[in-house]
Amino acid sequence: MTGAEPSRRERRILMRCSRCGRRNRGHGDWNVAIKAGVIHATICNLCQTLEENTEAEINEATILYGRDSFGRITGRSKGSA
Ligand SMILES: [Zn+2]
Repeated sequence: MTGAEPSRRERRILMRCSRCGRRNRGHGDWNVAIKAGVIHATICNLCQTLEENTEAEINEATILYGRDSFGRITGRSKGSA
């Protein structure tokens, strides 16, 4: 096991909205879009669609995030051992 789960606080440090360019100052729930283990977009709470927000809530509740040895973000079901 390497690295730690990217916490909400860590995500805030990284983020500027990919859609409107607003900087995250710690207000609201922002989403990150992850492709092949790399964050490729961050979306502020104002730009998120209801569908995106719902998906993020479900992912947060069901997926355990971590990082592999290359620093890529990985996710696995919280139900698996
Ligand atoms: Zn935005």
